[in-house]
Amino acid sequence: SSVQVSVLGLGAMGSALAGALVKAGYATTCWNRSPGKADGLVAQGAKAADTAGDAVRASRLVIACLLDHASVHEVLDPLSDELAGRTLVNVTTTSPAQSRELADWAAQAGVAYLDGGIMAVPHMIGQPGASILYSGSADVFHQYRPLLDLWGTSTYFGEDAGLASLYDLALLAGMYVMFAGFMHGAAMVAPAGVTAGEFAAEATPWLTAMTGAFQGFAAVIDGGDYTVEGQQSLQFSSLSDLLAASSDQGISTEVVTMVQRLIQRQIDAGHGEEGFARIIESIKQPG
Ligand code: NDP
Repeated sequence: SSVQVSVLGLGAMGSALAGALVKAGYATTCWNRSPGKADGLVAQGAKAADTAGDAVRASRLVIACLLDHASVHEVLDPLSDELAGRTLVNVTTTSPAQSRELADWAAQAGVAYLDGGIMAVPHMIGQPGASILYSGSADVFHQYRPLLDLWGTSTYFGEDAGLASLYDLALLAGMYVMFAGFMHGAAMVAPAGVTAGEFAAEATPWLTAMTGAFQGFAAVIDGGDYTVEGQQSLQFSSLSDLLAASSDQGISTEVVTMVQRLIQRQIDAGHGEEGFARIIESIKQPG
């Protein structure tokens, strides 16, 4: 490819991203704060830059994969003049507010900005299953789409630079609560002599199948009517049997109690006959 690209930050993730670019034939210049990390990439055909400034000057497209928001500013603030007129794709993990702040900073400096949230671990980069979420400049996303697609499935959410990060964190929220649910189930059966591995063998297909319910819930939520026929009611979902069985096993009930409280607030407000999806109202309006 004739596209020249520079990668700032050769940690575990930056190295994986740069490696995919080199492999695909992009003229890739790499920089890392501590020396030595570019050696493997140079052996594959990348160029190493001695300074971040040299790396920025080498390419119209600059990828930043540093530790955090502060490190992006530390590296790029002194280089705003060099970056002017270039494109910055920042895949460093930042909060939505930090991503918006960086987009404003870039706009001030005359830099086209695209923010990315990586939903993968380094060894997944360039493999099926890797997903990267983007928001910010649509022009940048579309212009460099072939390059971005080398890393994984690229999804663009819009001009608000904070939106990719918000999606990233929202997806992680879902993941952590699901993981806690798995742990709760494994803890429940453990006193009965069931190993976590035996439980996982049942939980994997079960929870995978249950993800099929998301779009049904979403249709009810987006439709704004929780009384639609065919839903499991809040009344029916009281979870008291589940809590009693957990207590009988001598384990913590915290994980399930959290869900039960969300249900109960809607029942208390008189919505017990309505669908389970209504617990989102308990979350949207903290009690
Ligand atoms: P590493 O800890 O492996 O690498 C961190 C990188 O940031 C190194 O290149 C380090 O340089 C550099 N760095 C840190 N502070 C500074 C600074 N003040 N100035 C200049 N460079 C600095 O992290 P990863 O590569 O794993 O992660 C990079 C980003 O990717 C993070 O934002 C992370 O959240 C995100 N990410 C990582 C995932 C993963 O599984 N690893 C998954 C999804 C996102 P030095 O070598 O000199 O220390």
